[in-house]
Amino acid sequence: MSYLPKPKIHHPQLPKNTLGLTRRDYEGSLSTLCAGCGHDSVSAALIQACFELDLPPHRVGKLSGIGCSSKTPTYFLGPAHGFNSVHGRMPSIASGAAAANRDLVYIGVSGDGDTASIGLGQFIHAIRRGVNMLYLVENNGTYGLTKGQFSATADPGSKNKGGRTNAYPAIDLVQLALQMGAGFVARSFSGDKAQLVPLLKAAIAYPGFAFVDVISPCVTFNNHEASTKSYAHIRRHDRPLVAADFVPHAEEITTAYAPGERVAVTLHDGSTLYLKKLAEDYDPYDRAGAMSYLQRQQADGAVPTGLLFVDAAPVEMHAVLGTDDRALNSLPYEALCPGATALDDINAALR
Ligand code: SF4
Repeated sequence: MSYLPKPKIHHPQLPKNTLGLTRRDYEGSLSTLCAGCGHDSVSAALIQACFELDLPPHRVGKLSGIGCSSKTPTYFLGPAHGFNSVHGRMPSIASGAAAANRDLVYIGVSGDGDTASIGLGQFIHAIRRGVNMLYLVENNGTYGLTKGQFSATADPGSKNKGGRTNAYPAIDLVQLALQMGAGFVARSFSGDKAQLVPLLKAAIAYPGFAFVDVISPCVTFNNHEASTKSYAHIRRHDRPLVAADFVPHAEEITTAYAPGERVAVTLHDGSTLYLKKLAEDYDPYDRAGAMSYLQRQQADGAVPTGLLFVDAAPVEMHAVLGTDDRALNSLPYEALCPGATALDDINAALR
């Protein structure tokens, strides 16, 4: 993994956000991924989203597991906190970090190998617990880091670079997230920045578990004609369902949409998520309907993208546990250690 910093010199007229930071202040180290890898486009979209949200980079926690995807947190938000865990264990690290310090914004980046195989149990329990985080999967249907084996999200019948056909059914992480109760579920494409950036902004601001599956082609091992995760295939089969635009609470709410073309979802902090239906028969508030629609579309070979489901009142881990509003590292010693009497009371209650 490279830690070579990018040159910090930039044009003095670069636009600044309300923190006085430019987009360059949200960059990370130089990427060592293959030229053209979709993951670098995802990093660029995350940089843009965090810049536009005016996030202080040092208030962000970046988390990952193992794989080409899990290298990408090195390439955005250099000043943020970061933890590169072992394979498939990113959700545990995210859960622990979010439990200890609820004041940070958590961005977990994983891959289809990291999440859909070794990390599958971890993934569904992070959803179940409602960890407040953006969980992003850079999905290319292949193990790029180990030279192109099929991953568990590879479609049956698709071929790898060597011409072998995948015989196994694919695990659809979007449908799994819907079934497990995730409050915000979206799918996008690394080559569609106009769709991806607002989705990432909304997912980062969402007060619960937000899952974004990004089809992010592996140009070295899975970008050929017989792949269903290639740039050409996704461009041919992309079916945008719901376009999303996100307006943070702090900004004056203005919009160019004509009345009647959009619906607004107000989140708990007053932020507004504008949704514009693209498919007539699609309802982004209907969890069961979303799953049924996805299955019908996928049977036709389509790749539905956009905001697939949103719940304006999500279940969040701290609300379930009834924890203190303050981060653990800001609590005084007396609050963290209530003393021997409290322990005696607990022990007495268990006898
Ligand atoms: Fe990206 Fe594939 Fe190269 Fe890995 S092997 S960096 S996924 S193009």
